[in-house]
Amino acid sequence: MDKLEIVGSKKEFKPAGDGSVRIMTPGPTQVVWNVRQARSLNTTNPDLDEEFYDFYKETCDLFAKVWNTKSRVYIMGGEGILGLEAACASLTEKGDRVLVIDNGIFGKGFADFVSIYEGEPVILSFDYHRPVDIDVLRNYLEKDSNFKYATVVHSDTPSGVLNPIEKICPLLKEYGILTVVDSVTGMFADELDIDKSMADIVCGGSQKALSAPPGLTMVAVSEDAMKAMEERKTPIRSFYANLMTFKTYYEDKWFPYTMPISDIYGLRAALDNVIADTNHLYRHKTIAAAVRKAVTAAGLTLYLEDGYASSVTVINVPAGMTDKMILDSMKTDYNIMIAGCFDVLAGKVIRIGHMGNNANVKDVYDTLKALGNVLGKFGFKCKADIGKVFMESLER
Ligand SMILES: *Cc1c(COP(=O)(O)O)cnc(C)c1O
Repeated sequence: MDKLEIVGSKKEFKPAGDGSVRIMTPGPTQVVWNVRQARSLNTTNPDLDEEFYDFYKETCDLFAKVWNTKSRVYIMGGEGILGLEAACASLTEKGDRVLVIDNGIFGKGFADFVSIYEGEPVILSFDYHRPVDIDVLRNYLEKDSNFKYATVVHSDTPSGVLNPIEKICPLLKEYGILTVVDSVTGMFADELDIDKSMADIVCGGSQKALSAPPGLTMVAVSEDAMKAMEERKTPIRSFYANLMTFKTYYEDKWFPYTMPISDIYGLRAALDNVIADTNHLYRHKTIAAAVRKAVTAAGLTLYLEDGYASSVTVINVPAGMTDKMILDSMKTDYNIMIAGCFDVLAGKVIRIGHMGNNANVKDVYDTLKALGNVLGKFGFKCKADIGKVFMESLER
């Protein structure tokens, strides 16, 4: 049980026995008490109180430090999607060619943002069951590299695939192509070193592995990306999604809109929690590996063949049942919420989110035990005790 302490909970995770459902979904994740408490603090006027500008800047700088980057970091009021759209809105001019690297649902989705801002998305598709093949990308770029920027997802949550952005972005840089990276689920679940990976714009969200509630996006913008925005021939065709409006907020003591101060207090508490947790990434990796061992030992199959993110496990729905049957029974019989999927994966897979505060042994164990029972109820014979294999795998 010693090992459990190492990979177990660092503080109390449960919402004080109020009976609410345990959300073991791939975001939003469970929010701990000190984050909820920070959100309930008395607030000042964030437009007028200079202290808030310091607090905001300090928080942005802390993100930059954790991500090891010289990029400027901004926190924007809006969910992760706002960060993705803001990156595309701020870079894209009419007719710009944009390479959309697609090996997952969010990956492909970038094409819509590019089109909305009148760019020309060129979709390069890969097998959804594995990470982007860097050699295929290299061969492709040898033939066509006339792109203003490229988009790629660090970890594409619907399939759970983790892409090697530390190889992808430097390769694109060789061709002078800027990169926009969706790390909404990647950051804080798997390693993110922005300057080493040479990513130009990296987008994150509050509600995934950081375990603050939904509502904020954090965006890191490199010097090169900033320069590209400054050199545009036409104005950015958005106000709310315009990254340039933040450029001089600190000097001018001016935000483009009133900052959601309570959300940012909570975000800061969540960031402090992660920084204080020296086992954070190790815990994610260990638990994710043990979940994969457990579900495959039980006879279930994983959607992915390779490139597993530490944030989520994506399991094929066994024959003879539907995703809905499983999800409903998990919720009704065990008060645990796991997720299905959407788009091309709708109905095909179920997903267990073990990122952020969900990445603790007790909750993951309870979830797997419940899943084993639910599958048994619908006629699936587990080949092994799913909870037991999970625990044994952790000890190794
Ligand atoms: C969660 C997530 C987002 C934000 O999407 P929402 O559906 O609005 O939560 C963007 N990209 C990835 C990879 C995500 O996991």
